[in-house]
Amino acid sequence: MKTKTTQELEAQRAVLLRQLRLAGPMIEGSIAMPSRKCGSASCECAHGVTKHRAMILCKKVNGRSVATYVPKDLWEQVQEWNREHKRLKKVLKEMSAINEQIIRLHVQDKRHDRDVRRSLKVLPEV
Ligand SMILES: [Zn+2]
Repeated sequence: MKTKTTQELEAQRAVLLRQLRLAGPMIEGSIAMPSRKCGSASCECAHGVTKHRAMILCKKVNGRSVATYVPKDLWEQVQEWNREHKRLKKVLKEMSAINEQIIRLHVQDKRHDRDVRRSLKVLPEV
């Protein structure tokens, strides 16, 4: 992999920042859609046909799984918020990776400058 320059990394970071500024409502968690029986003996679901679904948003709090029941009229909304959370999580992760690279490059550049200065000092003595 070709190493990027600091300018290239900063340009990438600017793109990510714009993506963050476009953030919409978001919600953390993973969505589960378990099937359930409605309780009616005459319904197909009583015979094992998957007919009714619920939506549950699960997340870990202090290592414990916490579930939030989502009413049907909010399903689409919550799915959108959850997608937005995943998108932003990815952007934040990429942003951190880029800034880590910028830090490493900065250290390398400083080392390079120091080496150049040293070699220049050495030159007149030869
Ligand atoms: Zn049913």
